[in-house]
Amino acid sequence: MNLFKRLAGFAALLALTACTTTMIDHGTYYTDTSHQAKSADSRIRFLVMHYTEINESGSLAVLTGDEVSVHYVVPEAPKVERGEPVVYQLVPEEKRAWHAGQSYWQGATELNASSIGIENVNLGPLGNGQWQPYPPAQVDAIIKLSRDIIARYKLPPTRIVGHSDIAPQRKIDPGPAFPWKTLYDAGIGAWPDDATVAALLANRDPKSPVDVRALQEKLKRYGYDVATDGVLDEKTRRVIGAFQMHFRPSDYAGNPDAQTDAIAQALLDKYFPQ
Ligand SMILES: [Zn+2]
Repeated sequence: MNLFKRLAGFAALLALTACTTTMIDHGTYYTDTSHQAKSADSRIRFLVMHYTEINESGSLAVLTGDEVSVHYVVPEAPKVERGEPVVYQLVPEEKRAWHAGQSYWQGATELNASSIGIENVNLGPLGNGQWQPYPPAQVDAIIKLSRDIIARYKLPPTRIVGHSDIAPQRKIDPGPAFPWKTLYDAGIGAWPDDATVAALLANRDPKSPVDVRALQEKLKRYGYDVATDGVLDEKTRRVIGAFQMHFRPSDYAGNPDAQTDAIAQALLDKYFPQ
């Protein structure tokens, strides 16, 4: 056999192999996967943080019941396996868990369909304005779990959100004690640059009032479901309060003040530059 014939035979064999590996047998039909599209992305586009408001055993009972569910549960004091924390997985990531309810973020609605949910065991409000802290071992587990999810789905920082961000009229979890800044320092989620906030504040009193419509527009651009009518009604106050719980937990009263406005602008400058 001459060289040409041998090469031709080899090419034919290659073509046959390629053909058979792109054809998938489904029993009653075949799919031909030889044409693969470039323009597609993951169905998972958001990571949503919660607190359970009840203890670990109660949380697991409720979240394995008929009403609600979540992909992951992070205990207050996670068990340790070979030096690393153990978190519960109740729902496979490719399945929709029922954790977000009616919700909105960055144009998307009903975030159960497009998110992974993490329930953190935490009682939330303890009364007298006190909130249960998230212990370091729990935070360490949240960081390790979140980092992995974010890397696998390439989630942008502004899509790591709290339940209160995506449903501010109904929800306040994961609450003002949730360590968003610590998570940001570990590479998870968004945070404004202090220098930008200070420059934008420009020696104004941080508590001085700002134009309501301008603040509404900033929060809407960042992702919140909020009107841009300039009216400081209860709905708008709740959205401002949700934003403050996330980015300025020392005061989340929902007042449209200069520091809140500067933080919102600093986030837009950083993550949505025009
Ligand atoms: Zn929640």
